[in-house]
Amino acid sequence: MADWMELEKEYFMRTVERAPLTIVKGQGSYVWDESGKRYLDFVAGWAVNSLGHCHPAVVEAVRHQAGELIQTSNHYYTIPQLQLAELLVKNSSLDKIFLCNSGAEATEGAVKLARRYGKLHLNGAYEVITATGSFHGRTLAMVSASGQLKYQTPYTPLPSGFINVEYNNIEAIKKATTSTVCAVMLEPVQGEGGVNVPSPDYLKEVRRWCDEKGIILILDEIQTGIGRTGELFAHQSFGIEPDIMSLAKGLGGGLPIGAIMAKDKFSVFTYGEHGSTFGGNPVTCAAAFATMKFIIENDIPRNAFDMGIRLIQRLERLSSKHTGLITDIRGKGLLMAVQFSGDFAKTLAQKCLEAGLLVNDVKPNALRLMPALNITADEIDEAVELLDQAITSLDANR
Ligand SMILES: *Cc1c(COP(=O)(O)O)cnc(C)c1O
Repeated sequence: MADWMELEKEYFMRTVERAPLTIVKGQGSYVWDESGKRYLDFVAGWAVNSLGHCHPAVVEAVRHQAGELIQTSNHYYTIPQLQLAELLVKNSSLDKIFLCNSGAEATEGAVKLARRYGKLHLNGAYEVITATGSFHGRTLAMVSASGQLKYQTPYTPLPSGFINVEYNNIEAIKKATTSTVCAVMLEPVQGEGGVNVPSPDYLKEVRRWCDEKGIILILDEIQTGIGRTGELFAHQSFGIEPDIMSLAKGLGGGLPIGAIMAKDKFSVFTYGEHGSTFGGNPVTCAAAFATMKFIIENDIPRNAFDMGIRLIQRLERLSSKHTGLITDIRGKGLLMAVQFSGDFAKTLAQKCLEAGLLVNDVKPNALRLMPALNITADEIDEAVELLDQAITSLDANR
């Protein structure tokens, strides 16, 4: 068996600090390492594996498409991307789509679309208001859009055109809105920023404000979309519709795909103004089509909703068992965070790993739970039992 950790150290740039685990196989909500040890996966590729690992519908779609046609240029029509486009438009409040390869590319494209609209219809307005604690991706412009200093400081000076204001504060958006602002871009629930759920009226107020000012509301649903929060799109549960929306993560059932969707009025790109070589790739689109179809036909968002409630109930029991240790349980559907009384999330995530549970330490004091959306009740219970074991072993060490 090769020493994969040594190889990584030798050849890889230091960007993500990896857990000491090499995953070689995945099935449903479980993964296995080289020694055959099994782990219950509550990271799911960072909220990507919406149907778990190697779901038969996804595997079959990829297998079939890989044997038919893998890539052409977008100069030609290909069928999987058109089928996906139709399915997404028919099941959303948006009218048009552009396909790309990742979340950052989708949000960056959404901002380009908003700027295009600003140039054409808002006297050249180009600035985009975004929120503190937000995460929109890793390109330079999206680092500038993301309201987190840890991503910005290493790269200053940053591209201009973004105004970071306090999340969940409508007055902050109102104050920042000038004649050069073309859009507000928000996550309906902030994922990477620690699973921050806004107050119930926030998005409605933002929607009203954007309408009043004639500016665009972009929702970054890369993490919250495709059933993650208990509806197909998180904005549905807040009772609003975006003008532009970005998708990625869960869309491809594990394959790399992103999308910009927009209402007709805001679909203002014209030929040559935006593009992507791999965007709309037949294999990723076939996987996304199979994923979306399965999610819609089997009402997977409903399962995410129900299992989310069960997870909260189990976590609350855990909280009363370990008095004072858990200080907050928050989230929506199967995008949850558990906050602790101290900064030991990283150690706890390691204890979970040892116990056979994969979790993400989203903050020094919080774990993020984002399992597959088709997870079963037994798997939810098992995860909380494993978390309980990990907490107990942590307690013993403190
Ligand atoms: C993950 C994420 C992104 C970036 O997606 P990548 O595919 O990593 O580029 C953007 N916005 C949100 C809300 C995300 O969760």
